[in-house]
Amino acid sequence: MTQRKPLIAGNWKMNLNHFEAIALVQKLAFALNDKDFDKAEVAVLPPFTDLRSVQTLVDGDKLRIVYGAQDLSQHDAGAYTGEISGAMLSKIGCTFVTIGHSERRQYHHEDDDLVNAKVHAAYRHSLTPILCVGEGLAVRQEGGHIAHILGQLDGALRKITAEQAKSIVVAYEPVWAIGTGEVASPEDAQEACEALRVRLAELYDSEVASGVRILYGGSVKSGNIAGIMAQPDVDGALVGGASIDAGEFTKICRFSD
Ligand code: PEP
Repeated sequence: MTQRKPLIAGNWKMNLNHFEAIALVQKLAFALNDKDFDKAEVAVLPPFTDLRSVQTLVDGDKLRIVYGAQDLSQHDAGAYTGEISGAMLSKIGCTFVTIGHSERRQYHHEDDDLVNAKVHAAYRHSLTPILCVGEGLAVRQEGGHIAHILGQLDGALRKITAEQAKSIVVAYEPVWAIGTGEVASPEDAQEACEALRVRLAELYDSEVASGVRILYGGSVKSGNIAGIMAQPDVDGALVGGASIDAGEFTKICRFSD
């Protein structure tokens, strides 16, 4: 079986100006600096306006933190006021880009076709998508959550090749658990992540499926990360609220409280 390096990614959402961003990255770099720390790859996903500051710190101090953006345009350039292209993110050193976060789907009406176009745009510019899927409360209560997330996965990966898919990161983020303090049980996270992996094997092959990192996201904290990380198909976490608290995020990166 392929060894998958866990990924802990901090989605700062629309928080922290560039001074605050610098302070947070410095604290994280210091706290995760011991040479034995190799539990996880650590990524931060700041707002666009902080990326340049984060890049300067990471490059200048050769930090073991990578970074990415929270969204990108499906277009490469042109008259799209307010948008940010994959080329721009790539040029500024981004490794990752989050695509299809439930807040984008909910507040910006992003559907599976747009998410799919953005996944293609990310690959055109050598960015690794962190593709978010997840069901709302009503779907979960009706028991339709697995069908729902598999539909989102299928839609997002249309015309994505196996060569591309093997580097994708998928984040299972039940909408009812995001920012609510309500965390899915480790067993719920495992059920969803396992189903996503089985679908990747059906869409591609077992080699792709066993190499893809599948994260859980939704009210992850230092107190619940260990149980989540103990699940065989969960390869890390996408962390929102707790990612802008250096102490808490550091503990999450170490899978402990
Ligand atoms: C998120 O924004 O992806 C998220 C999981 O948020 P939170 O950790 O705050 O629930």
